[in-house]
Amino acid sequence: MEDKVSDREGGCLGSKLWLYTNFDCNLRCTYCVTKSTPDVPRRALDLKTMQRLIDAGTALGFRDLFFTGGEPFLLDDIYSMLSYASARARTTVLTNGVLLHGARLERLAEVANENLRVQVSLDGARPEHHDPYRGEGTWAKTVTAIEGLLARDVQLCISTTETQANTGHLAELRLFRCALRISDRDHLIRPLARHGFSQEGLELSRAKLEPELTLTAEGVFWHPLTFPGDDEMRVSNELFPLEDAVTAVEDELARDDWSGRTEFI
Ligand code: SF4
Repeated sequence: MEDKVSDREGGCLGSKLWLYTNFDCNLRCTYCVTKSTPDVPRRALDLKTMQRLIDAGTALGFRDLFFTGGEPFLLDDIYSMLSYASARARTTVLTNGVLLHGARLERLAEVANENLRVQVSLDGARPEHHDPYRGEGTWAKTVTAIEGLLARDVQLCISTTETQANTGHLAELRLFRCALRISDRDHLIRPLARHGFSQEGLELSRAKLEPELTLTAEGVFWHPLTFPGDDEMRVSNELFPLEDAVTAVEDELARDDWSGRTEFI
């Protein structure tokens, strides 16, 4: 087993495994690469399937599990999923933060541990840098969630998508983040990608992206920059055996010229 772990961390595919909990979302961001809205079908991975995938992934040497959506905190089972995952691997859950108050926040705080990190999307230090793409009133709710997580000592990082609304204001965001005592190391800034609903940003395709194995209710995909029905990114319709999808990606890489591939997210 330890040999496999070493191979994965040093190998072309890396040690990250992405798990799409669901594809529906409480928000409808205009730049959403996964085409998520409150109206789309949920397309969720249930708890048992998720546990099987975590077991299979960690057995194959994946050591960094990323839960994403849609909005993962729409699912009642998300706390059990995070608890199961973080007992076995470093675990990060991505969220817009808007739902993280009240009972949801307390349930998350109950399963928090040193292996679990919450990645909250925050695009600016002021609403006018965040809300134009994410929806009116979302900035205030997201900042409240960040403050609630920090008050409960939940490990946290923030991710920022650079857009026309916030470019030129990122220094102000860094100051805002410092005032919250979130370190530079815990702040990811990425460019906008033209994918899904997004009509602007980087053009990224399978041929241009370093693979990061991505598991969804619709099968296995090349990279988390994907959406339901995205056949260009599809590796397999079947989740199991997971090893087959890993082999398919590694075979494709073995035939490939790596120059020009980029790591994204
Ligand atoms: S970008 Fe994130 S928060 Fe916004 S609609 Fe898409 S999944 Fe939801």
